[in-house]
Amino acid sequence: MLLRIALRNRTSKLTAIIAAGALALAPITPVSAEKEKGPSTLRDTESEALLREYTRPVLRAAGLEKQNIQMVIINDSTFNAFVADGRRIFVNYGALMQSETPNQIIGVLAHETGHLAGGHLAKMHEQLAQAQTQMIIAMLLGAGALVAGSRGNSGNNGLANAGAAAIAGPQEMIRRNLISYVRAQEENADRAGVKFLTATGQSAKGMYETFKRFSNDSLFAAHGADPYLQSHPMPVERVAALEELARSSPYWDKKDDPALQMRHDMMRAKISAFMERQDTVYRRYPMSNDSLPARYAHAITTYLHGDLHSALVQIDGLLQVQPNNPYFHELRGQALLEGGRPAEAIAPLRKAVQLSNNAPLIEMLLGQALVATDNKALTDEAIAILRAAVARETEAPLGYTQLAMAYGRKGDLAQADLASAQAAFLRGDNKTARDLASRAKTRFAVGTPGWVKADDIVAAKPLPGQNSN
Ligand SMILES: [Zn+2]
Repeated sequence: MLLRIALRNRTSKLTAIIAAGALALAPITPVSAEKEKGPSTLRDTESEALLREYTRPVLRAAGLEKQNIQMVIINDSTFNAFVADGRRIFVNYGALMQSETPNQIIGVLAHETGHLAGGHLAKMHEQLAQAQTQMIIAMLLGAGALVAGSRGNSGNNGLANAGAAAIAGPQEMIRRNLISYVRAQEENADRAGVKFLTATGQSAKGMYETFKRFSNDSLFAAHGADPYLQSHPMPVERVAALEELARSSPYWDKKDDPALQMRHDMMRAKISAFMERQDTVYRRYPMSNDSLPARYAHAITTYLHGDLHSALVQIDGLLQVQPNNPYFHELRGQALLEGGRPAEAIAPLRKAVQLSNNAPLIEMLLGQALVATDNKALTDEAIAILRAAVARETEAPLGYTQLAMAYGRKGDLAQADLASAQAAFLRGDNKTARDLASRAKTRFAVGTPGWVKADDIVAAKPLPGQNSN
C-alpha cells in the first residue's frame, strides 16, 4: 500500500524555517503557493521498513539509537533529504528514485544523521535568529539614513544613496557569514557521516557518488535544481575533501549485499509504479524486462489503471517466486479491495498482516476490507484490529476513518464521532476535529475515557503554523 497523507502543518512550518535558511543562502527562488501548503507524506510499510534498516546501524553509531528517530518519505519527485525537528529524517521519494544503490541513499542518510548528531538544527536556528536580528538592525540603520537623506533632500540624493548602501552592505555581510556557517556545518556532517559509515563497516562511496553528481550538476544548473542542492552547496573543495576521506576507509570498495540491492530495486519499482505516469513506468521498466522489480512495477501499474484481472494474474506470478513476501499479499489484497471485491481481499490481507508481524498500516487495510464487506459479523473483529493498529501507528488517519465507519455500523455514534474527530485532527483539519469532538462529548457520559479523549481534542491548541479557525 502506498498512502498519500497530508503532512501535518507543524512539519511544513519547520520545513519552512529550513527553507528560509536555504533561501537566505541560495539564489532566491520564489516559493510557490503549492509549497506553502506543505507537502504530503507517503506511507508504505515495505519502503519504511527498508529505510529503517538503512538508518538503524548509522543511528546506533551516532549514539542516537534511543531517540526513536523516524524516517518520513515526502511526496516530492525532486531530490531532497533533511532533518527538521531532531526526531525525524525526511527524504523525498525523488531521492529514493535517484539512488541506484542502497549505499548511495545510506550515504545521504548518514550525512543527515551527521546533522542530527551535531545538533546543527538548533544551532542553525540560533544563527538564523542572530542573522535576523542583525538584519533588522541593518534595516533600521539603513532606514534611518534614508529618512535623514530625504529630510536633507535638496536636489542631491547622496545621503539617500548612503542609506541604500547601509542596507545592502550589512546584509551582504550577514549573508556571507551564514554561507560560511552552513559550509562548516556541511563539512562537519560529511565527516560525521563517513565516520558512522566506517564504524558500521560500510563504504562512503555512495555518499561521494551522490554529492559528486550534485557538484557536477551545479556547474550548469543555475536554478530550478533539486532543493537538496540549494540547501547543500557542493563546492569542488568539499567534494574533494569527502573523496579523500571516503577513499581512506577500508570499506571503500565494499559492494551492497545483493539481497539488499534487490529490496532497494523493489522499493523503487513500487514507488515508480504508484507515483509516476504510466508511460514513465514502462520506460523505466519495459515489458521486455522480466526482472522481479519490473514485474512488480507492471503488476502495480496494471491494477492502478483498472485491469484487475490481469493485475491479479501478474501478482500471482510474483507470489509463485516469493510466496512469503508480505507485500505481494498486501498488493493482492489492496487490488481486490480497491477493485470492489473486499470479501476476497480479506484472506490475502490476513496473510500480509501475519507475514509482516502485524504491520499497522497493513492492519488498517485489513480493517478497511472487513468494514467494506458490509458484513456485521465482521465489524467487531474490524474494530479490534483497527484499535490495535491506531495504538501503534499514531499518524495515519486511515485507521480512525475506518474505525468511525465500523462504530457507525454498530450504531455507536459516540465512538464514531470520536474516531472521525481523531481522523480530522491527524489530517490537520482542526475545525472539523473540534466540531466532531464537541458532538462526541455530548454523546459520552462525562468523565468516561471517550469523553476525556474528545475533550482533549476540543481543548487542543492549534499547532504552530496552523490557522486557529
Ligand atoms: Zn547537509
